[in-house]
Amino acid sequence: MRQRLAVGNWKMHGSLPENRTLLEALAAAAGPDRVICAVCVPFPYLAQAQAALGGSRVAWGAQNVSQHPKGAFTGEVSAAMLREFGCRYVLVGHSERRQLFGEDDATVVAKAKAALAAGLTPIFCVGETLAEREAGVTQQVVGRQVSAAAEGLGNEGLGAVVLAYEPVWAIGTGKTATPAQAQEVHAFVRGLLKARSASLAASVPVLYGGSVKAANAAELFAMADVDGGLVGGASLVAEEFVAICRAAGGQE
Ligand code: PEP
Repeated sequence: MRQRLAVGNWKMHGSLPENRTLLEALAAAAGPDRVICAVCVPFPYLAQAQAALGGSRVAWGAQNVSQHPKGAFTGEVSAAMLREFGCRYVLVGHSERRQLFGEDDATVVAKAKAALAAGLTPIFCVGETLAEREAGVTQQVVGRQVSAAAEGLGNEGLGAVVLAYEPVWAIGTGKTATPAQAQEVHAFVRGLLKARSASLAASVPVLYGGSVKAANAAELFAMADVDGGLVGGASLVAEEFVAICRAAGGQE
């Protein structure tokens, strides 16, 4: 059975006092057993997340990682460094990194490889822009991104990642994909995995991301090929994120 997850992406938000309140609330909320809840925080807050969430059922991770293992790469953070702070996950290929920081498929795959080599689970984000959806090329775009992961990582590497389908037009816009729209793309992604191996299709979680809130999480997560969510804005509000974690575990 595929792992169910609810992963928060704090983006560039937070402060030490705000985080403390949020992390304490998350650590105290007992989430359902069958779901992994995690938060991906800005680098400077990893030590705080580790201290607050260590020993709790909530995991933590980062939002970016260098593709290089070490060296003269000013401003970069390696996967091994993330491991030192207890990270379990790292986002790669988030659309904000692809669009605002020029990360292409090759860079995203290299980052995923670096993460896997250090024992981290990459959360590999894919998704089409509004223009691409309107042009009817959603499957081409998502297919290209997933194929880059498959070819670059091989079946073994792909089997160790979490995929996240995040339509760019739904991120931070308040415009959520309908459950049917999400399911259509998730089923397509599942089919791509199946074409490589039935066991990959049966084991790789595919999360939905894009304006997930407590109010719409349950109906999205009820779709057959949606295994949980990657959550931006709503992960900054403890009650919202706890409710989303519960929904990912099949609890209202
Ligand atoms: C995200 O940042 O990955 C995201 C899905 O953001 P939001 O939930 O705010 O749309």
